[in-house]
Amino acid sequence: MKKLFSKINDALIKHFGVPERNQEYSDPLDVLIGTILSQNTTDRNSWQAYQNLKEKFPEWEQVLSLTPQELAQVIKSAGLINQKANAILDVLKEIKIKNGELNLDFIKDLSDDEILDYLTSFKGVGVKTASCVLLFSLKRNFCPVDTHVNRIINRVGGVKSAAPDKTFALIRKHIPENQGHSFHTNLLLLGRQYCRPQKPDCAACPIEKLCKYKEKEFTNLNKYKFNDFLLLEKL
Ligand code: SF4
Repeated sequence: MKKLFSKINDALIKHFGVPERNQEYSDPLDVLIGTILSQNTTDRNSWQAYQNLKEKFPEWEQVLSLTPQELAQVIKSAGLINQKANAILDVLKEIKIKNGELNLDFIKDLSDDEILDYLTSFKGVGVKTASCVLLFSLKRNFCPVDTHVNRIINRVGGVKSAAPDKTFALIRKHIPENQGHSFHTNLLLLGRQYCRPQKPDCAACPIEKLCKYKEKEFTNLNKYKFNDFLLLEKL
């Protein structure tokens, strides 16, 4: 599996480039809250909500003093605002009770498994959110698995698993060294642009030769063939 992932990673880098890391966004608690905001919405909307929140309330202690309704108003571009406001306040409260302060810096010294266990012990924090903290904040070599990454890993033949958390467990030891960030980020781009849930654009997909999906869609190929034919006609 590692060999396949490495080849896919190389092909995706060739196509999309090496994704940049957001250097301003690396504090573990910031990434944890940012990831909760990013659930079921676009990157743009969740980033806007996160920035709005940090601009109005730069300290997490200030956020903790808000009511769920007040917090919901500040993060409204993220969608599902009542659910997310409650989840954020619950996590902040629990961290304060467990650690005495709103700071997660101590997790930097823990092992990957200890961090996963610790973060998923909070209400509303699942494996995907915890693995985003491991990857984006702590720069550990992980590939968080959401529904899009899960779909692609299954289609290419990496695993057979309908559940993203199970897929994460199956692939976590097979991510090639130092490739977790590019692999994860470029898989998300692939899922948006080519390997869509319906009608994937297999004809133009940059990893088509590496993919074992039995139901590849080549409907767009007809379009390319037709265009090629028109070009030939003009020569
Ligand atoms: S070839 Fe098709 S199914 Fe396979 S990864 Fe590319 S778009 Fe997805």
